[in-house]
Amino acid sequence: MATPEASRIPGGLGQPAGRVYNFNGGPANLPLPVLEAAAAELLNWRGTGMSIMENSHRDKKVVAMALEAEDDLKSLLKLGDEWKVLFMQGGASMQFAMIPMNFAADGAACDYVNTGMWSDKAYKEARIVGADAAFAATSEPDDFTYIPDTFAFRLNSRYVYITSNNTVRGTQWRTFPRKPPAPLVADMSSDFLSRPLDLSDFALIHAGAQKNVGPAGLTIVLIRKDFAQNGRKGLPHMLDYRTFIESDSMYNTPPVFAIYIAGLVFKWIRHTVGGLDRMALRNEAKAKRLYDAIDGSGGFYRGTARPESRSLMNVTYRLPTPELEKKFQEEAKGRGLCALNGHRSVGGIRASIYNAMPDDGVDTLIEFMEYFKAANG
Ligand SMILES: *Cc1c(COP(=O)(O)O)cnc(C)c1O
Repeated sequence: MATPEASRIPGGLGQPAGRVYNFNGGPANLPLPVLEAAAAELLNWRGTGMSIMENSHRDKKVVAMALEAEDDLKSLLKLGDEWKVLFMQGGASMQFAMIPMNFAADGAACDYVNTGMWSDKAYKEARIVGADAAFAATSEPDDFTYIPDTFAFRLNSRYVYITSNNTVRGTQWRTFPRKPPAPLVADMSSDFLSRPLDLSDFALIHAGAQKNVGPAGLTIVLIRKDFAQNGRKGLPHMLDYRTFIESDSMYNTPPVFAIYIAGLVFKWIRHTVGGLDRMALRNEAKAKRLYDAIDGSGGFYRGTARPESRSLMNVTYRLPTPELEKKFQEEAKGRGLCALNGHRSVGGIRASIYNAMPDDGVDTLIEFMEYFKAANG
């Protein structure tokens, strides 16, 4: 694990006046340099005399921008040509339905690992479209506090579906199932680009942009071309992955502004942070400091996830009473530490410390936690 000093990156410290530290689960904070770059060229993008939002998506400069974003993403993840990057809409929730529609709606088997609300929703959509979806493992009996490590995969399964980071419960897969009987399909909405990935067992990855990548309205899909080719034929165009592959995601008007911001985020990770290995070190160091503060509080703060399954993105914890939790959130907000409420389905505290959360945001939160404990413990 990196030392805190090694994780600090230039341009990642401090906040301009009036800007808060935003711990929201999603939409989440964006890197300050990205917002500043977008602001600087908002009125006149690349000499076109108009904003990027007002340009045609068929304009050469816009097409080039989208291809540049795709290239930056491919190089971050070291994706080979067997992969295609798609810029889609409809959020992760649309992918919940589209994946089984394309790959299992003929009644085929597909296995899901249930680690919380999002994987459960994905599983239910698969049932709705007629797939023979089943849970190969579930951590529900223990309130989704951990990531399972034994699975009842079926040999005839078309794909194995997992949620790499459970945004609501604060759990995250450290390693993925080894040698699954079918390719892995993953919802990586809340930890996409937070660490390097070995994609050799994967066929499809999807991520709503609004956690770690950019504005809502953009969904990133990485898909293996051979997997896509074997998908069901005869679907409406907008529900068929091949449509997006063949048109470079420009079959209809794509969310150009969201792709543009995502492209700036990819460049920020590549050139300012220094790639996904550096991103991961920085994320590990940030999360470690926060979990250490929780574990070292003598039980005043209690982490909700089992230590070996703890998320580096969403740190979930409780205080002695719901009243103290409310007071904690309100006082924190008064100090510019915002949106520390847990997901509305579980309550408690959730500090979402995605890629863009500066080291200083986490350190300020830790200082506040120490003060609050001393004042209320
Ligand atoms: C936020 C989130 C979703 C929901 O995404 P939408 O883009 O709103 O559909 C799904 N899965 C995970 C893991 C999430 O964090």
